[in-house]
Amino acid sequence: MADTALMSIPGLIDPVPTPRDITPRADGRIDLIGLPKPRITELFAAAGLDAKAAKLRAKQVFHWLYHRGVTDFAAMTDIAKDMRPWLSERFVIGRPEVVLSQHSSDGTRKWLLKTADDHEYEMVFIPDESRGTLCVSSQVGCTLNCRFCHTGTMRLVRNLTPGEIVGQVMLARDALGEWPKGAMQGFDEVEDDDGGGYSADGRLLTNIVMMGMGEPLYNFDNVRDALKLVMDGDGLGLSRRRITLSTSGVVPMMARAGTEIGVNLAVSLHATNKAVRDEIVPINRKYGIEELLQACADYPGASNARRITFEYVMLKDKNDSDADARELVRLIKLYNLPAKVNLIPFNPWPGAIYECSSPERIRRFSDIVFDAGISAPVRTPRGRDIDAACGQLKTTAQKMTRAELDRLADEKQAALG
Ligand code: SAH
Ligand code: SF4
Repeated sequence: MADTALMSIPGLIDPVPTPRDITPRADGRIDLIGLPKPRITELFAAAGLDAKAAKLRAKQVFHWLYHRGVTDFAAMTDIAKDMRPWLSERFVIGRPEVVLSQHSSDGTRKWLLKTADDHEYEMVFIPDESRGTLCVSSQVGCTLNCRFCHTGTMRLVRNLTPGEIVGQVMLARDALGEWPKGAMQGFDEVEDDDGGGYSADGRLLTNIVMMGMGEPLYNFDNVRDALKLVMDGDGLGLSRRRITLSTSGVVPMMARAGTEIGVNLAVSLHATNKAVRDEIVPINRKYGIEELLQACADYPGASNARRITFEYVMLKDKNDSDADARELVRLIKLYNLPAKVNLIPFNPWPGAIYECSSPERIRRFSDIVFDAGISAPVRTPRGRDIDAACGQLKTTAQKMTRAELDRLADEKQAALG
């Protein structure tokens, strides 16, 4: 990809290609989605508006983009009529392209999306009684190769841009029909706990989790810039308390995530000793459990009211014994962490080398942690019938390629035999 620069990242792995923040379309127009307001002001000034006009227009356009979800400059009725074509000749309001959208029997929805340069990634919407959660991707694929995760087996990886990340949230609002209609009035104040003016009746998008494809802390700047637009009262206006970032344990970036983004933290712990975590979450070989838990203890903003979630995938005979549960409790207490534990039944995928623990085992594990005074709910798998559950995200296109390869192999075999 011509417009891809290599970003160095502090990991075990090769740098992840990251595109430039602005890559004009083939026709030279620039996509405004994902750019902060001052950047839009600069672009308007560079295109010929005087400083005052550029600032005013940027403010108006920004409001239309993020409060009203408008995708056409022609609909911006408070902008002078002759100004609207001027804008649309130079700029576009993009959305990720939808390749496929699927609906699960349990109400979960999954979208296969495509970037302008033809990379596919996925997002998932999970409604329940009290909230509607959008599971957002930060990268195409993931470089970290956790042994139980299907996304980690994808070869192709590139960081998503802020526009491609915030674009997922905007597309979900398009699909759910959630943009406010009527008079130009927004949610200028974001109350800390009210979901930014959105009710929590499960049909609406109230929460965001950075738990789709990719490791968000390997794409720190873009994830931060996108989430700033999501949290901005002039932007999408969602409270930071309703956003959770999940990391497999990129320790050097965790403090910055706390201070520069300030959302809830989830940590994919999955094991309580070095040997097992080295095997199933290979980044552990670089940043070990002690370092990781210390970074959690130091996480800015963590408190009993805002606990850190430890995700723990239940793998049969690997990390699911009573001793593991007790060690998990010991570690959480040793570091004095305000924590809750999320037990995730392993979601199998073709070729996975693990099995899910039995329901009785998961229940027993949960009871041990719970009896020690730490909340340990078992997460109900959602959207399994459309491969939308945790760790199953791997684009349909890649799966089809694999199926095609198998078919070709069979045909070849048949021809030979
Ligand atoms: N890369 C980040 C966020 C995306 S994964 C991270 O690893 O935290 C979101 C969660 O799903 C993580 O806790 C991950 O470990 C878990 N997960 C991955 N594959 C899974 C599978 N096959 N079954 C159940 N959970 C899985
Ligand atoms: Fe990447 Fe998270 Fe999957 Fe690990 S679990 S491979 S970090 S997406």
